[in-house]
Amino acid sequence: MPAEVCRQCGEVLLRPDILERVQEVVWSEVAPKRTASVPVYDLAQVKVGDRGEVDRSCFPC
Ligand SMILES: [Zn+2]
Repeated sequence: MPAEVCRQCGEVLLRPDILERVQEVVWSEVAPKRTASVPVYDLAQVKVGDRGEVDRSCFPC
């Protein structure tokens, strides 16, 4: 499974599993108990297109 690409600017996004791992490391220093309940896509905006499909974009977009 290749890395996902932002549909707005073409920037490569982190794979969900890698992104989750990064967030787990960050959150483990702040609130360990939240790592399992916080959505994976916090660092990448999730948009819903006209057809109802999820359209992923990078943070700046
Ligand atoms: Zn973008």
